[in-house]
Amino acid sequence: MTSQYRGRFAPSPTGRLHRGSLVAAMGSWLDARAHDGVWLVRIEDVDPPRDIPGAAEDILRVLARLELTSDEPVVWQSTRDAAYEKALGTLREKGLLYGCACTRKEILARDAELGLPPGVYPGTCRNGTGGRPARALRFRLPDRTLGFTDRLCGHFEQNLPLEAGDVVMKRADGLWAYQLACIVDDVESGVTDVVRGADLLDNTPRQIALIEALGGRVPRYMHLPLVLNDRKEKLSKQQGAVPLDETNLPGELEFAWTHLGFPRLGADSIAAFWRAAVPLWRERFAKDPDHG
Ligand code: GLU
Repeated sequence: MTSQYRGRFAPSPTGRLHRGSLVAAMGSWLDARAHDGVWLVRIEDVDPPRDIPGAAEDILRVLARLELTSDEPVVWQSTRDAAYEKALGTLREKGLLYGCACTRKEILARDAELGLPPGVYPGTCRNGTGGRPARALRFRLPDRTLGFTDRLCGHFEQNLPLEAGDVVMKRADGLWAYQLACIVDDVESGVTDVVRGADLLDNTPRQIALIEALGGRVPRYMHLPLVLNDRKEKLSKQQGAVPLDETNLPGELEFAWTHLGFPRLGADSIAAFWRAAVPLWRERFAKDPDHG
């Protein structure tokens, strides 16, 4: 049977690959292979102030050393303006896009007044900016609770207006927002399965709402346990997490694998590691008939 499965790894080039990114790369790749599916790599280079020159090439180089290469040409978000513009047009036509004049400070002040979690957009400009110039463009989320079942984390739901708030699509600095670029590309690439770090679990309900608004198919989700540093913080490329030790990539693979809850494989090469890991992943995560 030909599998329809399409998965992806979507790093932002804000720094070098670290142990947390390897967990996401490994989980998404193994899940694609275990389902006889396609694995795509997408470079999320939409944030020039945060992107580091050369980081994307370095990420692809290290992935290649790990024998992880995209099954289709790598998608670079910096080349995809037309697609994002078109998606804005779709949202606009449906009345789901509006200009927002609020500064971050104003949003936080209003959140405090209303008792909303800091940063949740309180809807101030939903019915117009009152003559103030629009700074950002926001997607109007449906006024409801939206839930989904994560393959690892189980049922997860959010009251969208109270816990997410209308999402920025185009930022005040004119750049595309991660949420828009990520969803437009997942939809256009026909991604059926998103496997990524658990830090994005609470972004998922608003992303599903956006997929639905754009007429896309909602994928299955699997959010993987985060790798934390000594101070119990999530590793982040931007905050200079220690890059993978390229003198010991088999050791790094074992680290990511045991972090995902499997016993050490003790493989003597990278290729042997992957050969041993795929059937074990399949046994644990790829047994349902829809995705066999
Ligand atoms: N670009 C995001 C990151 O590097 C991941 C986006 C995603 O997997 O949806 O954290």
